[in-house]
Amino acid sequence: MQKYNIGIYSHNAEMPEGFDIYFNYMKDVTGIINKPVINSHNIISCFADNKTAKQNPELVAYSGKNRALRSEDKTLYCDWICHSHKEYYSKIFELVKIADKSNVAGFHLDSITMPNPDYCVCDTCLKEMQDNNVNINDFRINQTINFVKQISKITQKELSVTLYPDPFYQERYGIDIAALARYIDYFLIPLYDISYQSLYWLDSLAHGFYKILKKPFYIMLYAKDVDLENLKKAAKMVGRYTNNIIISYDDDKAYEIYKMLKKLENKVRSRF
Ligand SMILES: [Zn+2]
Repeated sequence: MQKYNIGIYSHNAEMPEGFDIYFNYMKDVTGIINKPVINSHNIISCFADNKTAKQNPELVAYSGKNRALRSEDKTLYCDWICHSHKEYYSKIFELVKIADKSNVAGFHLDSITMPNPDYCVCDTCLKEMQDNNVNINDFRINQTINFVKQISKITQKELSVTLYPDPFYQERYGIDIAALARYIDYFLIPLYDISYQSLYWLDSLAHGFYKILKKPFYIMLYAKDVDLENLKKAAKMVGRYTNNIIISYDDDKAYEIYKMLKKLENKVRSRF
């Protein structure tokens, strides 16, 4: 019998009972750090950090045309730090080390990549590429893997990372899925929409990840202000490819999805 694992992804530190897995922000893109949430997978926004970008503009990633700030690059939803600043790494590592001492279930690393394919070509990154004789593609991938690898050595608790919703060309964000998979327990894939009125793209992407990933993965659905019936249809669709589903930002709707999917448990097909 296949069992669904249904979780919630939330900014709230309170956790309603009854779900299979919990994700709560310890550090979000604003850069604000909260206390670790016990029994939850604590989410850390790694390189998206508005506060640090404001306080330490010299750490911000650079595309060759502009810095990775919302004010300069309109494609960004937050400000991004360059991967070449090891003193910034130390702050994230320290956060994990401290939280690891409390009874957290694990850590989820969000925004581990470069902000988009143009980044980062700041002077420090260019020098690193030159010194190590690597091209920008390999450089970006190495930076991301090394960062996650180091965190995997700090904690023995479960570790997960966010994948951009593109199963085919992950390298454009600086990710090598197979290499990254060695250091984590599972992936979280946000297939977010504000209505889920059309589902063909959801089907294509969920199928793509189902085919490509060798590790367990959760698909995340966005629930805030989404019609519940549309969300139910989206969850059923995703359930064709994974029994691991996370509902983000609305615990009440998440519980409705939980009840619906648990009824279907005997019918699902999944590799995990
Ligand atoms: Zn850089």
